[in-house]
Formats: sequence, C-alpha cells, structure tokens
Amino acid sequence: MRNLAEQRCFNHAQREAVARCPSCENFFCRECITEHEDRVICAGCLRKLARVPLLNRRGFAGLIRGSQLMFGLIAAWFFFYLIGEALLAMPTSFHEGALWGEGNWLGEE
Ligand SMILES: [Zn+2]
Ligand SMILES: [Zn+2]
Repeated sequence: MRNLAEQRCFNHAQREAVARCPSCENFFCRECITEHEDRVICAGCLRKLARVPLLNRRGFAGLIRGSQLMFGLIAAWFFFYLIGEALLAMPTSFHEGALWGEGNWLGEE
C-alpha cells in the first residue's frame, strides 16, 4: 500500500495529494478536492454530480417558463383581439344602435 503523501494530484502532477476521491478513486490536491454534503469529493465528480439535476431543473424550469410565455402570448393575443373586436363593434353600435336607432325605436314605441 502506497503512502498518501507520495501520491500526486490527478490534475496537478507537481502537487502532493491530500485526499482521495471516493467516487473516482483518484488522488487530488487541496485545490482539486472539495467537501460536498460531509463527503470529500473531487471537483470533477462534484461537477458530474451537480450537472444532472441542475440540467434537469433548468430544463424543467425552461419548460414551465416556455409554457408560461406561450400562455401569456395567447392571453395577450386574446386580450387584444377582444379589444379590437370591441373597438370595431363600438362605432357600429354608436351609429346604428345607441344614437339614433335606439332613440328612433323608443320614439316609435
Ligand atoms: Zn472524483
Ligand atoms: Zn490539483
């Protein structure tokens, strides 16, 4: 069994290893090793551990944000469509309905 002090960092050949990553079983220097959830792990393995859930989370959030954006666009389109319809309908009702149509109709009654 070799002494830990004789081991060199997996990333830095000139540096002494201080710890061994339990995940990839390589030796690493103080700079390359980090603590993660009370476990000593190398930066590479930490990145690997972090990458999958992070990507999933980001993808999921992106999906939600995308659908929210889509819903917002549809809501905005519908809103403006309704306003447009109301604006188109308004002059018609002013001319034919409310102003003289209705008055005329009321007068005849
Ligand atoms: Zn590792
Ligand atoms: Zn290193």
